[in-house]
Amino acid sequence: MAAGTRIAVLRERASGETRVSATPETVRKLIGLGAQLAVESGAGSSASIADADYLAAGAEIGTAEQVLAGADIVFGIQGPDPSLLGPVRPGAWIVAGLDPFGQHGRVEAYAASGLEALAMEFMPRITRAQSMDILSSQSNLAGYKAVLVAANIYGRAFPMMMTAAGTVSAAKAFIMGVGVAGLQAIATARRLGAQVSATDVRSATKEQILSLGAKPIFVENVAGIEGEGSGGYATEMSEEYRRAQAELVSSHLAKQDIVVTTALIPGRAAPRLISDAQIATMKPGSVIFDLAAPQGGNVEGCVADEVVERHGVRIVGYSNTPAHLPADASALFARNLFNFLSAFWDKEQGKPVLDEEIGNAIRLTQGGKVVHERLLA
Ligand code: NAD
Repeated sequence: MAAGTRIAVLRERASGETRVSATPETVRKLIGLGAQLAVESGAGSSASIADADYLAAGAEIGTAEQVLAGADIVFGIQGPDPSLLGPVRPGAWIVAGLDPFGQHGRVEAYAASGLEALAMEFMPRITRAQSMDILSSQSNLAGYKAVLVAANIYGRAFPMMMTAAGTVSAAKAFIMGVGVAGLQAIATARRLGAQVSATDVRSATKEQILSLGAKPIFVENVAGIEGEGSGGYATEMSEEYRRAQAELVSSHLAKQDIVVTTALIPGRAAPRLISDAQIATMKPGSVIFDLAAPQGGNVEGCVADEVVERHGVRIVGYSNTPAHLPADASALFARNLFNFLSAFWDKEQGKPVLDEEIGNAIRLTQGGKVVHERLLA
Protein backbone atom coordinates (compact mmCIF):
# COMPACT_ATOMS: atom_id res chain seq x y z
CA MET A 1 0.00 0.00 0.00
CA ALA A 2 1.38 3.37 -0.94
CA ALA A 3 0.79 6.59 0.96
CA GLY A 4 -2.76 7.75 0.28
CA THR A 5 -4.28 4.35 1.02
CA ARG A 6 -7.42 4.03 -1.07
CA ILE A 7 -10.53 2.73 0.68
CA ALA A 8 -13.51 1.57 -1.38
CA VAL A 9 -17.02 1.51 0.06
CA LEU A 10 -19.45 -0.65 -1.89
CA ARG A 11 -23.22 -0.69 -2.02
CA GLU A 12 -24.29 -3.83 -0.13
CA ARG A 13 -25.74 -6.43 -2.46
CA ALA A 14 -27.18 -9.04 -0.06
CA SER A 15 -30.96 -9.15 -0.04
CA GLY A 16 -32.46 -7.28 2.91
CA GLU A 17 -29.19 -5.51 3.71
CA THR A 18 -29.84 -1.81 4.22
CA ARG A 19 -26.68 -0.73 6.03
CA VAL A 20 -23.56 0.91 4.66
CA SER A 21 -20.03 0.50 5.97
CA ALA A 22 -18.96 4.17 5.98
CA THR A 23 -20.82 7.37 6.78
CA PRO A 24 -19.90 10.97 5.91
CA GLU A 25 -18.55 11.25 9.47
CA THR A 26 -16.16 8.31 9.10
CA VAL A 27 -15.25 9.35 5.55
CA ARG A 28 -14.08 12.68 6.94
CA LYS A 29 -12.15 11.03 9.75
CA LEU A 30 -10.48 8.51 7.43
CA ILE A 31 -9.46 11.30 5.07
CA GLY A 32 -8.09 13.04 8.14
CA LEU A 33 -5.80 10.03 8.65
CA GLY A 34 -4.53 10.44 5.10
CA ALA A 35 -6.73 7.93 3.23
CA GLN A 36 -8.58 8.44 -0.04
CA LEU A 37 -12.23 7.38 0.06
CA ALA A 38 -14.21 6.11 -2.93
CA VAL A 39 -17.91 5.36 -2.40
CA GLU A 40 -20.12 3.49 -4.85
CA SER A 41 -23.04 5.59 -6.01
CA GLY A 42 -26.18 4.76 -4.01
CA ALA A 43 -24.24 2.96 -1.27
CA GLY A 44 -25.91 4.96 1.49
CA SER A 45 -29.38 5.44 0.10
CA SER A 46 -31.12 2.76 2.19
CA ALA A 47 -29.47 4.26 5.29
CA SER A 48 -30.68 7.76 4.38
CA ILE A 49 -27.27 8.97 3.20
CA ALA A 50 -27.10 10.62 -0.22
CA ASP A 51 -24.15 10.54 -2.61
CA ALA A 52 -23.93 14.31 -2.15
CA ASP A 53 -23.28 13.83 1.59
CA TYR A 54 -20.30 11.58 0.86
CA LEU A 55 -19.06 14.02 -1.77
CA ALA A 56 -19.30 16.88 0.70
CA ALA A 57 -17.28 14.82 3.17
CA GLY A 58 -14.51 14.49 0.59
CA ALA A 59 -15.19 11.09 -0.99
CA GLU A 60 -15.16 10.33 -4.66
CA ILE A 61 -18.37 8.74 -6.03
CA GLY A 62 -18.40 6.19 -8.84
CA THR A 63 -19.51 2.81 -10.09
CA ALA A 64 -18.32 -0.32 -8.28
CA GLU A 65 -15.61 -0.78 -10.86
CA GLN A 66 -14.43 2.81 -10.54
CA VAL A 67 -14.29 2.84 -6.76
CA LEU A 68 -12.58 -0.54 -6.60
CA ALA A 69 -9.88 0.41 -9.12
CA GLY A 70 -6.60 0.41 -7.24
CA ALA A 71 -8.29 0.01 -3.83
CA ASP A 72 -6.02 -1.00 -0.95
CA ILE A 73 -8.93 -1.65 1.40
CA VAL A 74 -12.51 -2.64 0.63
CA PHE A 75 -15.07 -1.98 3.34
CA GLY A 76 -18.30 -3.94 3.66
CA ILE A 77 -21.08 -4.68 6.08
CA GLN A 78 -21.13 -8.18 4.62
CA GLY A 79 -18.34 -9.68 2.51
CA PRO A 80 -18.32 -8.30 -1.04
CA ASP A 81 -18.82 -10.68 -3.95
CA PRO A 82 -15.31 -11.90 -4.94
CA SER A 83 -16.21 -11.61 -8.63
CA LEU A 84 -16.43 -7.81 -8.25
CA LEU A 85 -12.94 -7.48 -6.81
CA GLY A 86 -10.79 -7.78 -9.96
CA PRO A 87 -9.82 -4.08 -10.01
CA VAL A 88 -8.38 -3.92 -6.46
CA ARG A 89 -4.63 -3.87 -5.66
CA PRO A 90 -2.93 -7.23 -5.14
CA GLY A 91 -3.14 -8.19 -1.45
CA ALA A 92 -5.87 -5.65 -0.74
CA TRP A 93 -7.69 -5.94 2.58
CA ILE A 94 -11.35 -6.86 2.80
CA VAL A 95 -12.68 -5.39 6.06
CA ALA A 96 -16.24 -6.53 6.77
CA GLY A 97 -18.46 -8.95 8.63
CA LEU A 98 -17.44 -12.03 6.63
CA ASP A 99 -19.57 -14.78 8.23
CA PRO A 100 -16.50 -17.06 8.14
CA PHE A 101 -18.33 -20.26 9.11
CA GLY A 102 -21.33 -19.68 6.86
CA GLN A 103 -19.48 -18.37 3.77
CA HIS A 104 -16.65 -20.82 3.32
CA GLY A 105 -16.67 -20.61 -0.46
CA ARG A 106 -16.38 -16.86 -0.40
CA VAL A 107 -13.45 -16.96 2.01
CA GLU A 108 -11.71 -19.48 -0.27
CA ALA A 109 -12.31 -17.15 -3.21
CA TYR A 110 -10.71 -14.21 -1.35
CA ALA A 111 -7.70 -16.45 -0.66
CA ALA A 112 -7.49 -17.56 -4.31
CA SER A 113 -7.49 -13.90 -5.40
CA GLY A 114 -4.59 -13.14 -3.05
CA LEU A 115 -6.70 -10.83 -0.87
CA GLU A 116 -6.31 -10.38 2.86
CA ALA A 117 -9.76 -10.94 4.33
CA LEU A 118 -10.26 -9.53 7.84
CA ALA A 119 -13.37 -10.81 9.61
CA MET A 120 -14.53 -8.07 11.93
CA GLU A 121 -16.77 -10.47 13.88
CA PHE A 122 -13.63 -12.27 15.07
CA MET A 123 -12.44 -9.15 16.89
CA PRO A 124 -11.15 -10.42 20.26
CA ARG A 125 -13.07 -9.39 23.36
CA ILE A 126 -10.35 -7.33 24.92
CA THR A 127 -10.74 -3.87 26.35
CA ARG A 128 -8.80 -2.02 23.65
CA ALA A 129 -10.88 -3.66 20.89
CA GLN A 130 -14.28 -2.80 22.39
CA SER A 131 -14.72 0.22 20.14
CA MET A 132 -14.03 -1.95 17.07
CA ASP A 133 -16.52 -4.69 17.95
CA ILE A 134 -19.27 -4.96 15.31
CA LEU A 135 -21.02 -7.77 17.18
CA SER A 136 -21.56 -5.52 20.19
CA SER A 137 -22.61 -2.43 18.29
CA GLN A 138 -25.11 -4.31 16.14
CA SER A 139 -26.43 -6.61 18.90
CA ASN A 140 -27.20 -3.65 21.08
CA LEU A 141 -29.48 -2.16 18.43
CA ALA A 142 -30.96 -5.57 17.64
CA GLY A 143 -31.93 -6.10 21.28
CA TYR A 144 -33.75 -2.80 21.27
CA LYS A 145 -35.54 -3.47 17.98
CA ALA A 146 -36.62 -6.96 19.02
CA VAL A 147 -38.57 -5.56 21.96
CA LEU A 148 -40.20 -2.86 19.83
CA VAL A 149 -41.25 -5.36 17.18
CA ALA A 150 -42.68 -7.71 19.80
CA ALA A 151 -44.49 -4.79 21.45
CA ASN A 152 -45.95 -3.78 18.13
CA ILE A 153 -47.31 -7.24 17.36
CA TYR A 154 -48.61 -7.76 20.91
CA GLY A 155 -52.31 -7.00 21.17
CA ARG A 156 -51.94 -5.46 24.62
CA ALA A 157 -49.95 -2.67 26.27
CA PHE A 158 -46.61 -2.97 28.06
CA PRO A 159 -47.07 -0.59 30.99
CA MET A 160 -49.67 -0.84 33.70
CA MET A 161 -52.29 1.84 33.04
CA MET A 162 -54.98 3.03 35.40
CA THR A 163 -57.75 4.49 33.33
CA ALA A 164 -61.32 5.59 33.98
CA ALA A 165 -62.43 2.44 32.19
CA GLY A 166 -60.34 0.22 34.43
CA THR A 167 -56.79 -1.02 34.85
CA VAL A 168 -54.58 -2.47 32.14
CA SER A 169 -52.01 -4.80 33.67
CA ALA A 170 -48.30 -4.66 32.88
CA ALA A 171 -46.88 -7.12 30.35
CA LYS A 172 -44.50 -9.79 31.62
CA ALA A 173 -41.36 -9.98 29.47
CA PHE A 174 -38.74 -12.71 29.69
CA ILE A 175 -35.31 -12.31 28.09
CA MET A 176 -33.35 -15.50 27.44
CA GLY A 177 -29.64 -14.90 26.92
CA VAL A 178 -28.19 -11.81 28.56
CA GLY A 179 -25.29 -10.75 26.38
CA VAL A 180 -25.18 -7.39 24.66
CA ALA A 181 -28.54 -7.83 22.90
CA GLY A 182 -30.24 -9.29 25.97
CA LEU A 183 -29.11 -6.46 28.22
CA GLN A 184 -30.50 -3.90 25.81
CA ALA A 185 -33.72 -5.92 25.48
CA ILE A 186 -34.11 -5.88 29.28
CA ALA A 187 -33.50 -2.13 29.41
CA THR A 188 -35.93 -1.44 26.56
CA ALA A 189 -38.71 -3.64 27.95
CA ARG A 190 -38.27 -1.97 31.34
CA ARG A 191 -38.48 1.50 29.78
CA LEU A 192 -41.71 0.49 28.09
CA GLY A 193 -43.09 -0.52 31.47
CA ALA A 194 -43.01 -4.32 31.35
CA GLN A 195 -42.21 -6.55 34.32
CA VAL A 196 -38.97 -8.13 33.17
CA SER A 197 -37.18 -11.35 34.05
CA ALA A 198 -34.14 -12.88 32.37
CA THR A 199 -31.93 -15.95 32.28
CA ASP A 200 -28.48 -16.97 31.03
CA VAL A 201 -26.01 -19.81 31.50
CA ARG A 202 -23.20 -17.45 32.56
CA SER A 203 -23.38 -16.69 36.28
CA ALA A 204 -21.89 -13.19 35.83
CA THR A 205 -25.11 -12.03 34.19
CA LYS A 206 -27.14 -12.40 37.40
CA GLU A 207 -25.73 -9.15 38.82
CA GLN A 208 -26.27 -7.39 35.49
CA ILE A 209 -29.93 -8.47 35.37
CA LEU A 210 -30.49 -7.21 38.91
CA SER A 211 -28.77 -3.92 38.18
CA LEU A 212 -31.25 -3.29 35.35
CA GLY A 213 -34.16 -3.86 37.70
CA ALA A 214 -35.14 -7.25 36.27
CA LYS A 215 -35.55 -10.61 37.98
CA PRO A 216 -32.93 -13.33 37.37
CA ILE A 217 -34.28 -16.82 36.64
CA PHE A 218 -31.40 -19.27 37.05
CA VAL A 219 -30.84 -23.01 37.20
CA GLU A 220 -29.51 -23.54 40.72
CA ASN A 221 -29.09 -27.29 41.08
CA VAL A 222 -26.73 -27.85 38.12
CA ALA A 223 -23.61 -25.68 37.57
CA GLY A 224 -23.74 -23.29 34.63
CA ILE A 225 -20.78 -21.31 33.33
CA GLU A 226 -18.79 -19.62 36.10
CA GLY A 227 -18.33 -15.89 35.70
CA GLU A 228 -18.22 -14.45 32.18
CA GLY A 229 -17.17 -17.68 30.42
CA SER A 230 -14.14 -17.76 28.15
CA GLY A 231 -13.90 -14.49 26.21
CA GLY A 232 -17.42 -13.67 27.37
CA TYR A 233 -18.83 -16.51 25.31
CA ALA A 234 -21.01 -19.45 26.29
CA THR A 235 -20.36 -23.05 25.26
CA GLU A 236 -22.77 -25.90 24.67
CA MET A 237 -24.31 -27.05 27.96
CA SER A 238 -24.46 -30.59 29.34
CA GLU A 239 -27.54 -32.74 28.86
CA GLU A 240 -28.17 -32.48 32.63
CA TYR A 241 -28.06 -28.68 32.53
CA ARG A 242 -30.33 -28.52 29.52
CA ARG A 243 -32.92 -30.71 31.23
CA ALA A 244 -32.81 -28.58 34.39
CA GLN A 245 -33.08 -25.40 32.31
CA ALA A 246 -36.03 -26.73 30.29
CA GLU A 247 -37.84 -27.64 33.50
CA LEU A 248 -37.19 -24.27 35.13
CA VAL A 249 -38.07 -22.30 32.04
CA SER A 250 -41.26 -24.27 31.28
CA SER A 251 -43.15 -23.14 34.34
CA HIS A 252 -41.90 -19.58 33.91
CA LEU A 253 -42.71 -19.37 30.19
CA ALA A 254 -46.34 -20.27 30.75
CA LYS A 255 -46.76 -16.97 32.63
CA GLN A 256 -45.03 -14.70 30.08
CA ASP A 257 -46.55 -12.33 27.52
CA ILE A 258 -43.35 -11.39 25.67
CA VAL A 259 -40.26 -13.53 25.24
CA VAL A 260 -37.06 -12.40 23.53
CA THR A 261 -34.41 -15.07 22.93
CA THR A 262 -30.82 -14.09 22.14
CA ALA A 263 -28.73 -17.18 22.98
CA LEU A 264 -25.75 -17.85 20.74
CA ILE A 265 -22.73 -20.12 20.81
CA PRO A 266 -19.88 -18.94 18.57
CA GLY A 267 -19.30 -21.17 15.54
CA ARG A 268 -22.29 -23.39 16.32
CA ALA A 269 -25.98 -23.46 15.64
CA ALA A 270 -27.95 -21.51 18.24
CA PRO A 271 -29.09 -23.63 21.21
CA ARG A 272 -32.77 -24.64 21.18
CA LEU A 273 -34.37 -22.98 24.21
CA ILE A 274 -38.10 -23.19 23.55
CA SER A 275 -39.93 -26.23 22.17
CA ASP A 276 -43.31 -26.39 20.51
CA ALA A 277 -44.64 -28.20 23.60
CA GLN A 278 -43.57 -25.25 25.76
CA ILE A 279 -45.18 -22.78 23.36
CA ALA A 280 -48.42 -24.73 23.76
CA THR A 281 -48.40 -23.87 27.49
CA MET A 282 -48.12 -20.13 26.85
CA LYS A 283 -51.07 -17.74 26.84
CA PRO A 284 -52.68 -17.06 23.46
CA GLY A 285 -51.69 -13.59 22.28
CA SER A 286 -48.15 -13.88 23.64
CA VAL A 287 -45.29 -12.93 21.33
CA ILE A 288 -41.83 -14.46 21.00
CA PHE A 289 -39.02 -12.65 19.17
CA ASP A 290 -36.14 -14.97 18.28
CA LEU A 291 -32.99 -12.92 17.73
CA ALA A 292 -31.06 -16.11 17.02
CA ALA A 293 -33.19 -16.80 13.91
CA PRO A 294 -30.25 -16.22 11.51
CA GLN A 295 -28.18 -18.82 13.42
CA GLY A 296 -30.89 -21.49 13.30
CA GLY A 297 -33.12 -20.10 16.04
CA ASN A 298 -33.66 -20.62 19.76
CA VAL A 299 -37.35 -21.25 19.22
CA GLU A 300 -38.92 -24.27 17.54
CA GLY A 301 -41.00 -23.27 14.53
CA CYS A 302 -39.45 -19.81 14.06
CA VAL A 303 -39.18 -18.88 10.38
CA ALA A 304 -36.94 -15.88 9.70
CA ASP A 305 -38.79 -12.81 8.43
CA GLU A 306 -42.22 -14.36 8.95
CA VAL A 307 -44.77 -14.11 11.73
CA VAL A 308 -45.62 -17.73 12.54
CA GLU A 309 -48.58 -18.50 14.79
CA ARG A 310 -48.37 -21.63 16.97
CA HIS A 311 -50.99 -22.40 19.64
CA GLY A 312 -52.13 -18.77 19.50
CA VAL A 313 -48.59 -17.50 20.17
CA ARG A 314 -46.89 -15.41 17.51
CA ILE A 315 -43.23 -16.17 16.81
CA VAL A 316 -41.10 -13.63 14.97
CA GLY A 317 -37.45 -13.38 14.05
CA TYR A 318 -35.61 -11.39 11.45
CA SER A 319 -32.79 -12.71 9.31
CA ASN A 320 -31.01 -9.38 9.82
CA THR A 321 -32.36 -7.34 12.72
CA PRO A 322 -29.77 -4.50 12.63
CA ALA A 323 -30.79 -3.87 9.01
CA HIS A 324 -34.15 -2.70 10.42
CA LEU A 325 -32.36 0.33 11.95
CA PRO A 326 -30.17 1.18 8.96
CA ALA A 327 -29.10 4.70 9.92
CA ASP A 328 -27.95 3.98 13.48
CA ALA A 329 -26.63 0.53 12.65
CA SER A 330 -24.53 2.02 9.83
CA ALA A 331 -23.30 4.86 12.00
CA LEU A 332 -22.04 2.47 14.69
CA PHE A 333 -20.68 -0.13 12.26
CA ALA A 334 -18.83 2.58 10.33
CA ARG A 335 -17.31 3.89 13.57
CA ASN A 336 -16.19 0.37 14.47
CA LEU A 337 -14.32 0.20 11.14
CA PHE A 338 -12.84 3.67 11.61
CA ASN A 339 -11.75 2.89 15.19
CA PHE A 340 -10.10 -0.27 13.91
CA LEU A 341 -8.10 1.39 11.13
CA SER A 342 -7.20 4.45 13.15
CA ALA A 343 -5.88 2.36 16.06
CA PHE A 344 -3.41 0.71 13.68
CA TRP A 345 -2.65 3.65 11.39
CA ASP A 346 1.06 4.08 10.83
CA LYS A 347 1.64 7.72 9.96
CA GLU A 348 5.00 7.15 8.31
CA GLN A 349 3.77 4.38 6.06
CA GLY A 350 0.42 6.10 5.47
CA LYS A 351 -1.47 2.87 6.03
CA PRO A 352 -2.68 0.62 8.83
CA VAL A 353 -0.29 -2.01 10.18
CA LEU A 354 -1.84 -4.70 12.39
CA ASP A 355 -0.29 -6.17 15.50
CA GLU A 356 -0.24 -9.91 16.15
CA GLU A 357 -2.93 -10.15 18.78
CA ILE A 358 -5.67 -8.54 16.73
CA GLY A 359 -4.25 -9.33 13.29
CA ASN A 360 -4.11 -13.06 13.93
CA ALA A 361 -7.55 -13.06 15.53
CA ILE A 362 -9.31 -11.57 12.51
CA ARG A 363 -7.16 -12.49 9.47
CA LEU A 364 -8.81 -15.27 7.46
CA THR A 365 -6.69 -15.26 4.32
CA GLN A 366 -3.19 -14.14 3.33
CA GLY A 367 -0.64 -15.01 0.63
CA GLY A 368 -3.20 -17.01 -1.39
CA LYS A 369 -4.24 -19.24 1.50
CA VAL A 370 -6.82 -19.55 4.26
CA VAL A 371 -4.71 -18.94 7.38
CA HIS A 372 -7.16 -18.71 10.30
CA GLU A 373 -6.87 -21.54 12.80
CA ARG A 374 -10.62 -21.69 13.47
CA LEU A 375 -11.23 -22.30 9.75
CA LEU A 376 -8.39 -24.79 9.34
CA ALA A 377 -9.42 -26.85 12.39
P1 NAD B 1 -23.55 -13.93 22.47
O1 NAD B 1 -24.21 -13.13 21.42
O2 NAD B 1 -22.46 -14.87 22.06
O3 NAD B 1 -24.67 -14.80 23.24
C1 NAD B 1 -25.79 -14.16 23.80
C2 NAD B 1 -26.03 -14.67 25.20
O4 NAD B 1 -26.62 -15.97 25.17
C3 NAD B 1 -24.77 -14.80 26.07
O5 NAD B 1 -24.94 -14.05 27.24
C4 NAD B 1 -24.69 -16.29 26.34
O6 NAD B 1 -24.13 -16.58 27.61
C5 NAD B 1 -26.15 -16.69 26.28
N1 NAD B 1 -26.40 -18.12 26.10
C6 NAD B 1 -25.72 -19.02 25.33
N2 NAD B 1 -26.28 -20.24 25.45
C7 NAD B 1 -27.35 -20.12 26.29
C8 NAD B 1 -28.32 -21.04 26.79
N3 NAD B 1 -28.30 -22.33 26.45
N4 NAD B 1 -29.27 -20.55 27.64
C9 NAD B 1 -29.29 -19.23 27.99
N5 NAD B 1 -28.39 -18.34 27.55
C10 NAD B 1 -27.44 -18.76 26.71
O7 NAD B 1 -22.98 -12.99 23.63
P2 NAD B 1 -22.59 -11.46 23.53
O8 NAD B 1 -23.79 -10.61 23.52
O9 NAD B 1 -21.70 -11.30 22.38
O10 NAD B 1 -21.83 -11.15 24.88
C11 NAD B 1 -21.32 -12.08 25.79
C12 NAD B 1 -20.40 -11.40 26.82
O11 NAD B 1 -19.24 -10.84 26.22
C13 NAD B 1 -21.07 -10.27 27.57
O12 NAD B 1 -20.75 -10.41 28.90
C14 NAD B 1 -20.42 -9.04 27.03
O13 NAD B 1 -20.38 -7.97 27.94
C15 NAD B 1 -19.04 -9.53 26.71
N6 NAD B 1 -18.40 -8.70 25.65
C16 NAD B 1 -17.16 -8.16 25.88
C17 NAD B 1 -16.55 -7.38 24.88
C18 NAD B 1 -15.18 -6.77 25.08
O14 NAD B 1 -14.68 -6.79 26.18
N7 NAD B 1 -14.55 -6.25 24.03
C19 NAD B 1 -17.20 -7.18 23.68
C20 NAD B 1 -18.47 -7.76 23.49
C21 NAD B 1 -19.04 -8.52 24.48
